[in-house]
Amino acid sequence: MQQEKIDVLVIGAGPSGSVASAYLHKQGLKVKVVEKSKFPRFVIGESLIPRCMDHFDAVGLLDCLKAMNFEVKDGARFMNNQGVVCNFDFSKKHGEGWDWTWQVPRADFDKALTDELQSWGVDIAFEQEVTAVEFADDGSSTTTIRDVKGNESTVKAKFIVDSSGFGRVLPRLLDLDKPSEIPKHSSIFTHVKDIKRPEGREGTIITFDVIDTDTWLWVIPFSNGDTSIGYVGKTGYMDSFKGTNTEKLQEMMRLSSYYFDRFDGLDYKYEPRMIKNIAKSVKQLYGKGFALTGNSAEFLDPVFSSGVTFAVESAHLAAQLVTKELKGEEVDWQTQYTDYMLEGVDVFSTYVKEWYTGNLQTIFFHSTENKVIKEQICAVLAGYVWDKTNPFVKNHNRLVKTVAHIADMEMAAHGKS
Ligand code: FAD
Repeated sequence: MQQEKIDVLVIGAGPSGSVASAYLHKQGLKVKVVEKSKFPRFVIGESLIPRCMDHFDAVGLLDCLKAMNFEVKDGARFMNNQGVVCNFDFSKKHGEGWDWTWQVPRADFDKALTDELQSWGVDIAFEQEVTAVEFADDGSSTTTIRDVKGNESTVKAKFIVDSSGFGRVLPRLLDLDKPSEIPKHSSIFTHVKDIKRPEGREGTIITFDVIDTDTWLWVIPFSNGDTSIGYVGKTGYMDSFKGTNTEKLQEMMRLSSYYFDRFDGLDYKYEPRMIKNIAKSVKQLYGKGFALTGNSAEFLDPVFSSGVTFAVESAHLAAQLVTKELKGEEVDWQTQYTDYMLEGVDVFSTYVKEWYTGNLQTIFFHSTENKVIKEQICAVLAGYVWDKTNPFVKNHNRLVKTVAHIADMEMAAHGKS
């Protein structure tokens, strides 16, 4: 059996694996990326938030993405079923940071990243699946890889970055999964050729159309003329729709009075896919000789589009720490990696949970607009969840509840509750 020796094995070539391998390669380490599928491949996660731009920029992957002319996303629109609209504009946010990003078909986006990495000489082995990993006491590992013909080879690595997304390779092999605290939601989605797309901003703006407290529709227009549509709702509710996935999604589209006509009668580009019980969590984010990044570690919910941003935030940080460790420097993975990552996850978890308690929806749709509060919440939605100068980061738990409570009292005073 063929055996290769490298410094770092990266499992998965999504955004997380790409950012990790870009950084490690630039540090002069011998990196190998092993990717199960052949690119371009479909994956969901198409609405980015500005914080991710910092990481693509830092590892030298921004220019290849800019060249793709993806649809620019400079904010987001939330609307409820009474027609109340809440617009966020990323240029009007608290603190520093990017005020735009993109809406991307991920097949093209992820391929642009891997093409760029390969042009630098990064070794990416496509259609090769990691099937087993054995760790030695010093943290070095021997990984078994199987190609599409069933041939096996092994790789000896000093460190593994597991960026395998929902493949969750090391959480599965090492029994690291734990139940998420986020309510059980499922999602169904597809792409359409958006031939009835209105002119101007109405045609291109990303929208979250809120059907009720638990159920919402995303509409994510791409620059190639296609639009991604998808529903998220409680698993039990999503299961109550009958028929094929196409029939289920067609039925659900009736729930949106705003978007029904635009998408009515359009062919779905593929049979809608359904992912059940989306949220994922793990007992630990690292161990001797490995770190989990991106979805392999934690996934909350699609509602605030945080997935890719956490994927690249964790990948970039893990890659920096791996580099230090392999260069002989002391690394405290608990404080420098886990504590940092969980701080951001904790802030976003509050926003996801408070979305589904209805408190954030109350703030978005029913509170008297307060410019400062809106800018602070906008910075959170842009992904700047480590900025302690932002009260809605520092006191996330308390402030969201308090502002929602005030909005409730205002509504009661005006006889609207
Ligand atoms: P991925 O992009 O999933 O990449 C992992 C790669 O690992 C894959 O290419 C896979 O083939 C490979 N792999 C898996 N197993 C193996 C193996 N055994 N061996 C080798 N390779 C392997 N995020 C957003 O930012 N915005 C959104 O709007 C958004 N919407 C979402 C909607 C839904 C319904 C869901 C479920 C998620 C959504 N997400 C969104 C989350 C987003 O999909 C992920 O956070 C993001 O793709 C994570 O990137 P990653 O690099 O960690 O994993």
